[in-house]
Amino acid sequence: MIRLQPDWLLTDSGWQCGWQIEFHQGIITALGPAQPGARRLSRQVVMPGLVNSHSHAFQRVIRGRTEFRHPDRPNDDFWSWRELMYRAAMSLHPDQLEVVARLLYLEMVEAGITTVGEFHYQHHQPDGTPYADPDELALRLVEAARWAGVNLVLLRCAYHRSGFRVPANPLQVRFLDRSVDESLQAVERLRGRGLSVGVAPHSVRAVPPEWLGRLAEYARQHHLPLHMHVSEQPKEIEQCLVETGLRPVQLLHREGLLGGDFTAVHAIHLEADEIRALATSTVCSCPTTERNLGDGIVPALQLRRAGVSFTLGSDSQCQVDPFEDARQLDYHLRLVRQQRAVLDEPPGKLEDWLLTCLTQSGARSLKQPCGSLQPGLRADLVAIDLDHPGLACEAPQGLLWCAPREAVSQVWCRGVPQLEDRHHPKRAEAVESYRQVMKEFVHG
Ligand SMILES: [Zn+2]
Repeated sequence: MIRLQPDWLLTDSGWQCGWQIEFHQGIITALGPAQPGARRLSRQVVMPGLVNSHSHAFQRVIRGRTEFRHPDRPNDDFWSWRELMYRAAMSLHPDQLEVVARLLYLEMVEAGITTVGEFHYQHHQPDGTPYADPDELALRLVEAARWAGVNLVLLRCAYHRSGFRVPANPLQVRFLDRSVDESLQAVERLRGRGLSVGVAPHSVRAVPPEWLGRLAEYARQHHLPLHMHVSEQPKEIEQCLVETGLRPVQLLHREGLLGGDFTAVHAIHLEADEIRALATSTVCSCPTTERNLGDGIVPALQLRRAGVSFTLGSDSQCQVDPFEDARQLDYHLRLVRQQRAVLDEPPGKLEDWLLTCLTQSGARSLKQPCGSLQPGLRADLVAIDLDHPGLACEAPQGLLWCAPREAVSQVWCRGVPQLEDRHHPKRAEAVESYRQVMKEFVHG
């Protein structure tokens, strides 16, 4: 049994001063006004561990390596970045992927993340044939997360093609399922291994329309999260219109995907009826990636007014900084509208709402028993140091706007300390082995 008494505790009814939280065997057992004997966390605030709802671990290796305009591609955009990203996806073997994921997940723990949704589509060997264990790469990711101390939900992607009437791209052969049955068998197998799993049709580009209903039905039947990339780039919308006569969200509506179990990742290029159709769904926004790739800006105000919940994701891993992602959701709109605090509805509640996006909404999107400090939920906690120079304050109000990720001082995952005094005990090992892999990746 562990009892902690920080200066402030973030509960479902807001920040409480002088409270304690108690947990036992990885589960929160009680919280309330502090009693003698609790471990005092002076000048610290404690909140639920952050949820990162959208991650592609292997993309960590191209961080900082695509930030230039290629002389042969003067209009460098998402699609040329994607080719470079695919080259990375093609070259990593299982040992290398595990090392990359270890470093990435450790970086997430250091940023206060205790649960990650890994949107996983790198399934096969580089020539496209399955590994002896067809779940080899998925299991490497699961193992890396366990090693670093973060909960992982494996959002197992269905990926079938380059696009509607688009010739096969040899750089995608590791991703492909031959049939929807093959995709569903993989999900079934991973569930049978006792893993936390979700169903993830990759996108309207990569999955034929006739697969969508089956995938959604399976997810609903087994109460699994259903995630999909939606309307990230205008080109995929044009292709969808040509193939089906519908825009992507209209197609997902027709095929029965939308609703409380569904998370649309990105959801940037939307028309008014699509925004209305998404009302009961969740949008996973990845603003630091979206600005890096030049994707566009999510119409967060209209979506929120329609009733959409928001969660956040590190996606391409160009940064792993959940507070920054949350801030950017509003900052992008400020630049466009030349106004401040655009999402502050009702007034004065913007910070509270963004903290909810980082915790409760992510937990709901991934169907995980976390995201809130309530008895019975997982003891996933993060402490923030009010004495960090980026804060230097008495109370947590404003923390989201000011806290650098280095202000995260302690992290508990399932009640087990993973980060203490800003120190992850496996950091040096993770960095050293990652550097070795990068030498192989760059020169291999
Ligand atoms: Zn993504």
